[in-house]
Amino acid sequence: MRIVLMIALATTQSTFAAAPDVFAYKALAREDLRLSTIGYRLAAANTPFCTRKSRNPGWVLHDKAQYPDADMAQAAFGFRAAVAVSAVIPGGTAEALGIKAGDGLSAINGIELSKLPFAQRDLASARLEKIQTIFGDALGSSGTAEIALVTSEGQKRITLAPPAMCASRFWLDTKSGLDAGADGISVRVTEGLLAFTAHDDGQLAAIVAHEMAHNLLGHRQRVSGGGKGRGQILATEIEADRLSVWLMANAGYDTAAALRFAERYGRKTDLGIFSDGTHLRWKNRQRVMRQEIALIAQAETSSGLRAPPLLTALEIVK
Ligand SMILES: [Zn+2]
Repeated sequence: MRIVLMIALATTQSTFAAAPDVFAYKALAREDLRLSTIGYRLAAANTPFCTRKSRNPGWVLHDKAQYPDADMAQAAFGFRAAVAVSAVIPGGTAEALGIKAGDGLSAINGIELSKLPFAQRDLASARLEKIQTIFGDALGSSGTAEIALVTSEGQKRITLAPPAMCASRFWLDTKSGLDAGADGISVRVTEGLLAFTAHDDGQLAAIVAHEMAHNLLGHRQRVSGGGKGRGQILATEIEADRLSVWLMANAGYDTAAALRFAERYGRKTDLGIFSDGTHLRWKNRQRVMRQEIALIAQAETSSGLRAPPLLTALEIVK
């Protein structure tokens, strides 16, 4: 039997299957960091074009209770508090302030996290979510939050004032299939797809940008609002492909990586005559994205950024 627990992280949430060992736990944390780093870069670069923004400290948090084997989690990560920093994103606020993987989070704006009431059975799913909410509320009201950390050098108090960027969360899903999804705010990518793109961060950026595009364009609301037909779903897929390469270009990724991914993924998964008609075949995806890449080359830049027409057309950019 597989034990599946939700792992909620600062910018990442994951489900974790059983049979853990220290190596598997550490590998999961590295994959989380890779996904979070790419998501952070896309969310930060495209900030002017997003209506929904949130302050992002550039760290990944995890909760000891989310691991099936607490002793193994302690051995892998050395939790100094029940909720701790799993990794810091290069170039983010947490890194700049000297916060390190392994630092335990003990208080936010004077709220002692160890005193928050939770039933034991709720710890894995509820505690980190609650802490994220407290942290988000603190940053949302004043733009800053004072945190207390338990570090290798003892207690530290740090004031965080992280930058606002496109509001997005990134979930590492430990399923092995080649699958990704968007739910309106979050981007989910399977461990299978992380492995499929292990040699090329640009291809993982293409996946994340495509799913972020669904979120930025409100596709979930549109499709769940009655437009569930195949044509409607296909239209949203084409829009996500079109916007994805603009998001990538603004974040400094090579847009050709999206073409490479479309081909590799298509050759692996295209169903040919069994296709349900909701997705373009890979050569057509490439054609759509090549048209956009040509437009990107001609677009005016402002502060090194190019405004994606799909977002400006929706008057998302004020
Ligand atoms: Zn899609």
